Amino acid sequence: MKKILAVISLFVMIFSLAACSSSTGGKGDKGYVGIAMPTKSSERWVNDGKYMKKEFEKRGYKVDLQYAEDVVENQVSQLENMITKGVNILVVASIDGEALTNVLEKAHKQKINVIAYDRLIKKTPNVDYYATFDNFKVGVQQGSYIEEKLGLKDGKGPFNIELFGGSPDDNNAYFFFDGAMSILNPYIKSGKLVVRSGQTKFEQGATLRWDGATAQSRMDNLLSAHYTSERVDAVLSPYDGISIGILSSLKGVGYGSAGKLLPIVTGQDAELASVKSIIAGEQTQTVFKDTRELAKRAVDMAEAVLKGEKAEVNDTKTYDNGNKVVPSYLLEPVSVDKTNYKSVLVDSGYYSDAELN
Ligand code: BGC
Repeated sequence: MKKILAVISLFVMIFSLAACSSSTGGKGDKGYVGIAMPTKSSERWVNDGKYMKKEFEKRGYKVDLQYAEDVVENQVSQLENMITKGVNILVVASIDGEALTNVLEKAHKQKINVIAYDRLIKKTPNVDYYATFDNFKVGVQQGSYIEEKLGLKDGKGPFNIELFGGSPDDNNAYFFFDGAMSILNPYIKSGKLVVRSGQTKFEQGATLRWDGATAQSRMDNLLSAHYTSERVDAVLSPYDGISIGILSSLKGVGYGSAGKLLPIVTGQDAELASVKSIIAGEQTQTVFKDTRELAKRAVDMAEAVLKGEKAEVNDTKTYDNGNKVVPSYLLEPVSVDKTNYKSVLVDSGYYSDAELN
């Protein structure tokens, strides 16, 4: 009887070990990586997580990938769990860039290095590298698109514009807004762009957690307070999910039908719904940031750190997190509209024709 029990428990042990390694994917000979992502509610983060996990596993790492559904406390406890489980390195796209100071102190005590992914982690010395895109340039591309489409350089105007910002707890949101305003502000000052609401400061147009519904209700209010007899010609939107909310609001009061043209609406991330909207002639522009490239860059950085080597960076000045300047690698964003979505998004294999039609 004892023998039988011993054999059974051996089988149970072998089975659970196998199950355990299959739930984390790769064999993990080279190390254990914790990846903390903000939310699954936006496609981009789903892709970022998927690409990174695949790449790490291909290179022989074990991966624990977690999403926190935009709840800061969830992200903190997911990181705590990863530290307890003994990960060797953390890759983190934060929800609130200033909320991770304590948990990263714990990581540091366990000698766990940290890569900030896409969003800067602030107010901590315990972040080693930052992999992101040129965030200021994202904003410049949004602002320049509006400038070009309205013909502002040729002296056309005045036009009405409203301005939306991203989440105030995300460092990127300020870079996007500042980049866009570096182009738009001179026209606001000269009167060629008019912000009828008067809300020209980041804080006035900020959208907590990048929430589309929040943006939609702000747009509803702007339209009913300032645009009953005037038309809005352009809306600066920092992110596709926000653009979709803004467009619903505009369509709700008749834009896009009966000769009432939709305004120019920018965006970011080339999310599927927005690319379809661009093809349908609703959203006007988006900024494509190739998450495949960013994922690969972050994996390269993590691997260098784990080998005790220096990671490749191309910016050592821009990203001061309040404690130190975090060495960064900035990738190039690409402005996309109806004229180039095929070459940028389809030819590169990011989307297939079938997905877009
Ligand atoms: C990212 C953007 C994204 C936004 C909302 C930002 O930190 O850089 O790509 O649109 O978060 O998820």
